[in-house]
Amino acid sequence: MIVRKSKAELEAMREGGEITAACLKMLARNVRPGVTTADLDQLAEEFIYDHGGKPEFKGYQGFPASICASPNAMIVHGIPGSYRLKDGDVISLDVGVRYEGFVTDSATTVAVGEISQDADGLLRTTRKCLSAAAEQMRAGNHLGDIGHAIQSVAEARGYGVVRDLVSHGVGRKMHEDPQIPNYGEPGSGPRLQPGMVFAIEPMITLGSYEIDLDERDGWSIYTADRSLAAHYEHTVAVTENGPLIITGSGVPGA
Ligand code: MG
Ligand code: MG
Repeated sequence: MIVRKSKAELEAMREGGEITAACLKMLARNVRPGVTTADLDQLAEEFIYDHGGKPEFKGYQGFPASICASPNAMIVHGIPGSYRLKDGDVISLDVGVRYEGFVTDSATTVAVGEISQDADGLLRTTRKCLSAAAEQMRAGNHLGDIGHAIQSVAEARGYGVVRDLVSHGVGRKMHEDPQIPNYGEPGSGPRLQPGMVFAIEPMITLGSYEIDLDERDGWSIYTADRSLAAHYEHTVAVTENGPLIITGSGVPGA
């Protein structure tokens, strides 16, 4: 069942979304060669608590950290640790904040120093995927329109759209119904209605869309062919006045 949020609930989510957005902006400012992903995690955790939120990822199904940090061919769910960022990396940073009982979920992919043209093209296109998908968050549209928008933008460039991980409803729980594939048929699925809030998160690759779980930590997910991946995410509401990007203020590049 897709839980719709009231105007008051959306307002609470909007306030929480500002913390999430500001946290990602702060993290992006701190991305540079030599910084470890554990450093970024610590900065995020302090920032979230300082702003009255709670890091939703910490302890989620046993996840040990406050952010996910996933460099290069790692798509998502990277555990922050001793990995030291280096010039030419791209790093997906994913943050979930609980505030006033509601979760907001957002991610960005940041270039470390100078990156290749291929990498830059992938990041640009994945941002376009996210904005095209958010644009579909209108009452009367269908759920399938969201994935279709992502797939159209990515595949026009020959990129892979990860199929085994999805966008999702978000609210009192981080993962609510529906699960939203990042590909699909226009006009398919339920109609969107005001109050629906989804975390839309295209995961796009330079190669194949097949994925590979790192059995050593049980979390990190890579592209199976180890091609470069990018991941952006916003929490977006359907409102009577069109799409409302709840985690939109100040997230770099998204
Ligand atoms: Mg996320
Ligand atoms: Mg998410």
